[in-house]
Amino acid sequence: MALNIAVLPGDGIGPEIIAQALRVLEVLKKEGLDMTFTEAPLGGQAYDQYGHPYPEFTQDICRKADAVLLGAVGGPQYDTLDRPLRPERGLLAIRKDLGLFANLRPAVLFPELANASTLKPEVVAGLDIMIVRELTGDVYFGQPRGMRTNEQGVREGFNTMIYSEPEVRRIAHVAFDIAMKRGKKLCSVDKANVLETTEFWKEIVIDVAKEYPEVELSHMYVDNAAMQLIRNPKQFDVMVTGNIFGDILSDEASMLTGSIGMLASASLNESKKGLYEPSHGSAPDIAGKNLANPIATILSAAMMLRYSFDNEAAATRIENAVKKVLAAGYRTGDIYEEGTKKVSCSEMGDQIVAAM
Ligand code: NAD
Repeated sequence: MALNIAVLPGDGIGPEIIAQALRVLEVLKKEGLDMTFTEAPLGGQAYDQYGHPYPEFTQDICRKADAVLLGAVGGPQYDTLDRPLRPERGLLAIRKDLGLFANLRPAVLFPELANASTLKPEVVAGLDIMIVRELTGDVYFGQPRGMRTNEQGVREGFNTMIYSEPEVRRIAHVAFDIAMKRGKKLCSVDKANVLETTEFWKEIVIDVAKEYPEVELSHMYVDNAAMQLIRNPKQFDVMVTGNIFGDILSDEASMLTGSIGMLASASLNESKKGLYEPSHGSAPDIAGKNLANPIATILSAAMMLRYSFDNEAAATRIENAVKKVLAAGYRTGDIYEEGTKKVSCSEMGDQIVAAM
């Protein structure tokens, strides 16, 4: 059966980078990988067409799809809209609609780009970490929450950090499954010395580990994890953590690589349906100029093949093509340094298609 992929180009550089990812996927399609692509608007593009950032037309296509490939949303022309109509709301709405609870953020630094990092090249060259962040629970969603005046007449703000056993089990399974596809090392990040919620998290992760005897499980307090990511990031393979710790650690890890145009991401639901998108935004400053780096989006398409379609060979092939093009010295403006060959967004696509 054909893999049914919803394609949401979005705003700003979205259409330019998605076009290059589609060219790469078309190579595989021509060779016999059965895929269909259905385009739909999201974000500002959808607001312009349908008056809503996640219109029914798009909902319908995304619900029927096996996976969703997204460019980026947002732009200054939408910043004055009522909040529920802003492009970013479309993003929140689609994540909720598809029940995407597992956020996968790889931090990969190709050796050729080691100078782009603010850390010493020997600390980060060849870095390859996957951070698995729980996306729909934790203190961000726990009830009760709010602001109030307490019985002593003092104003206070409060939130509830809470995880249920099924929530921890399902994200632990995602992380262990990913570790099995990679280096078979998983580090669970918690603050079990202070927070009962995360002591409970740790207990459940240890229990799930019994189903994965091949995976080496370790545990680390979040404050130490934040330090270790800077001190010696290559000690990590897969990290799994809750929503708030993951929010912070995944951004920290992404900056180890120093190049936002290279960072892919995925968000999965229980049936491995996923939304795949670059970690960066719609870059309005360079939109329409054929300057954007399409690699984050192309690597997101590779993640789609690996995590939603279990096609490791096709995913690796795309990643190897990217490596080859970087090794040959081709760079878009954001990762350019002297002595390399500067190319446009579409020329980078040409090179990656040729390297396939
Ligand atoms: P941004 O990531 O769009 O841009 C930050 C800087 O990085 C800019 O200088 C941009 O030119 C550069 N950049 C980003 N992606 C690049 C690429 N592929 N190639 C080369 N350079 C790249 O973040 P921002 O400027 O804070 O936000 C711009 C818009 O994007 C806003 O409307 C914001 O709300 C939206 N946004 C969307 C998403 C998303 O769709 N997931 C994420 C973040 C921001």
